[in-house]
Amino acid sequence: MRILVTGAAGFLGSHLSRYLLGKGHSVIGIDNFITGSIDNIQDLFKSQKFEFTKYDVTNYLHVPGKLDAVLHFASPASPIDYLKFPIPTLKVGALGTHKALGLAKEKKAIFMIASTSEVYGDPLINPQHEGYWGNVNPIGPRGVYDEAKRYAEALTMAYHRYHGMQVRLLRIFNTYGPNMRLKDGRAVPNFMTQALKGKPITVYGDGSQTRSLCYVSDLIDGIYRLLISKENGPVNIGNPHEVSLLELAESVKRLTGSKSKIVFRPLPEDDPKVRRPDITKAKKILKWQPRIGLEEGLKKTIAYYKPRV
Ligand code: UDP
Repeated sequence: MRILVTGAAGFLGSHLSRYLLGKGHSVIGIDNFITGSIDNIQDLFKSQKFEFTKYDVTNYLHVPGKLDAVLHFASPASPIDYLKFPIPTLKVGALGTHKALGLAKEKKAIFMIASTSEVYGDPLINPQHEGYWGNVNPIGPRGVYDEAKRYAEALTMAYHRYHGMQVRLLRIFNTYGPNMRLKDGRAVPNFMTQALKGKPITVYGDGSQTRSLCYVSDLIDGIYRLLISKENGPVNIGNPHEVSLLELAESVKRLTGSKSKIVFRPLPEDDPKVRRPDITKAKKILKWQPRIGLEEGLKKTIAYYKPRV
């Protein structure tokens, strides 16, 4: 396949592009580097099958030649980034999705939207299955991301229903691993850089809120299976192993052998209290489930951060 990946220099976009090249596909990457980094894709330029353009996907998108799939992964995805870039976050989810869908339609390509567990907001049920409509504050600080992704899903389904396009709605839960920026601001990179520097590990709130963390290679495997499936409806991809943030901080402290203190900081507004994917659908239709346990994944990630802090 010849595949366009938006956000190719980001955390997930870069892993996905590398994986697709490894499967023998051709990849055209685009990224505007608002949160992505050229370092993430430096090695991909060795491949004859990789092309890259610095471009903002919210503008008119033209790609010469055939395309078999358009994978729209461009977006700030860390809460500190969508606070810093609220309007670009809304634009890439709304205008960017529109441009990417238009291109996919023109090329008769499969369209995949990288959606998120944030469409469930601060969920009132746990775990969250794909049929749950969510509990989102549209005007809170996270609303710029959550609503942009919800709109992106609505637009994608409209193109599927109205134009008969093949679409893939991928709902990504918390993911971690190499290539996530040291200063990304999310829990895993924060805890790891703090622990490795011997600085206080900042747990927000009392640390009783939960997340379920998926190691990046598991996630990419799930994404690829969804891409080559026939499923047009939403699919959760994530690891259902749920931990509290305090447990996560303690695990990182233990695995890094750090003497850092765990300290408590105010909980950000609208921070979801629980999050855990119901992956029954992915298991059934994609024959997918994560394989890398939290401890193993954290160790691999520590090995990435250690020489970089
Ligand atoms: N968090 C924390 N300390 C940090 C960074 C994040 O306790 O230094 C908490 C955050 O409040 C949330 C959870 O970790 O409850 C996961 O946050 P993250 O930013 O990783 O992503 P989210 O799941 O909120 O999108």
